[in-house]
Amino acid sequence: MPTSTEPGRPDPETTTLARGPDGRPVSDRGDTVCVIGAGASGLTAVKNLAEHGFGVDCYERETGVGGAWNWRHDRSPVYASTHLISSRPFTQFPDFPMPDDWPDYPHHGQLLSYFERYADHFDLRRHIWFGTEVVRVEPVGDDRWDVTTRSTGGYGPERTSRYGAVVIANGHNWSPKLPRYEGLEQFRGEVMHASSYKDSAQLRGKRVLVVGAGNTGCDIAVEAAQQASRCWHSTRRGYWYAPKYVFGRPADQVNDLLLALRVPLRVRQWLYHRTLRLTVGDLTRFGLPKPDHRVYETHPIANSLLVYHVGHGAITPVPDVARFHPHSVELTDGRQLDPELVVFATGYLPRFEFLDGKLLGDDEGVGRPRLWLNALVPDHPTLAVTGLVQPDSGIFPLAHWQAVLFARLLRARVSRPERAAAFAARVRAGAGERYSGQVKDSTRHWFEVGHADYLRALERALRELESK
Ligand SMILES: Cc1cc2nc3c(=O)[nH]c(=O)nc-3n(C[C@H](O)[C@H](O)[C@H](O)COP(=O)(O)OP(=O)(O)OC[C@H]3O[C@@H](n4cnc5c(N)ncnc54)[C@H](O)[C@@H]3O)c2cc1C
Repeated sequence: MPTSTEPGRPDPETTTLARGPDGRPVSDRGDTVCVIGAGASGLTAVKNLAEHGFGVDCYERETGVGGAWNWRHDRSPVYASTHLISSRPFTQFPDFPMPDDWPDYPHHGQLLSYFERYADHFDLRRHIWFGTEVVRVEPVGDDRWDVTTRSTGGYGPERTSRYGAVVIANGHNWSPKLPRYEGLEQFRGEVMHASSYKDSAQLRGKRVLVVGAGNTGCDIAVEAAQQASRCWHSTRRGYWYAPKYVFGRPADQVNDLLLALRVPLRVRQWLYHRTLRLTVGDLTRFGLPKPDHRVYETHPIANSLLVYHVGHGAITPVPDVARFHPHSVELTDGRQLDPELVVFATGYLPRFEFLDGKLLGDDEGVGRPRLWLNALVPDHPTLAVTGLVQPDSGIFPLAHWQAVLFARLLRARVSRPERAAAFAARVRAGAGERYSGQVKDSTRHWFEVGHADYLRALERALRELESK
């Protein structure tokens, strides 16, 4: 069993003083695990590690729990109208259901209250240092880690503490990915990334060009359809716009039924195409380009209103932007638009600025870690990432089971070292495996997983770790 230092605040009896490689003082927290971030993934990591007997110190740069779903946070990407895209039963943690009387697709305010209740119910706040950001994570001997923190915003001195393991749960929807376009700097109109979009009042009465057809881009185009004086929606290719409800049920629940029945991908794609034909109809009739791929080859877009507004002429679909001029935007088909506001809903990139990317297997320096099960780090068995998945369902149950796996792996390192060593070899051999069918090669799909395949792989890993 791990030597459990008292969870929560460093206790002088369990914290000893060590020295870092450069001679600076380091508080040695023994086998305590450090968790970075108190969003969905960090909270479930704290809970599951504590339940497995570990001391846990969690650092959160903001002043509350909930991460992206706490709209008060500086870097929260949610806007006033954000609701879940994945439905409630496929989003909630397996051991903490959302209330039965909540809608299928709760509002972001409900999500925040869900995380606050989760933190209270499992008494997690005593482990969390709010307003504290992690600025450096460095390996030290014996697979241990020196974690340097400071008050968010850089006030006050830095402190370094030494931990037995680290869980990175810093989220991957906060660092905007901005495309480069010729002439963008000279463009005189207003330009923003979707991360700065908070309220439809920002669109009111303006000629708006929304770039990007992810779920956020579609949501903003729908709001612009109702608030702006004009809305163009620019997409690089045609997409499949699935309604949020199919046969009267949330679309992900219907999809899950087919997955549970192990219906092969080709058959599911055929069924999906038929269903979309019968419900949404032929999208080219609305002037939308024909998708150049089959469903499930791009991240699902669930939006019942986009096609509706295109059909009412309130959204004009247009192709990709070719370049910007000071007073206009030129499209790849040569057309010129004159938007007053351009919203880039072009997604986010992961960022791990507090550690050397090579530690996560990012040899090319592109910001894409090379992990096993999107969570375990091949050369560092005491380092894990949670929540770095983009599933066709909610993220939280996947983050929960990732945390359980890591907690059991850490426990096995003490109680069954041979089993843990064999498992580490398995992690090294399998790094980079995918858990989705064929998807388009783009940064948007770096972390794409099919939730059913992914959960089965996690279950197999747990069984392998626990086997005799
Ligand atoms: C518009 C929108 C809609 C979405 N809809 C869904 C949906 O329907 N279903 C779904 O499952 N997911 C959805 N997501 C994805 C969403 O990111 C996840 O639901 C969830 O927020 C992931 O939780 P997380 O804890 O991994 O990351 P986050 O929620 O981003 O939390 C990370 C936390 O880490 C903290 N942090 C970061 N760096 C540091 C540091 N250096 N030191 C200390 N603390 C740090 C941050 O402050 C933050 O609190 C949506 C995302 C967006 C943008």
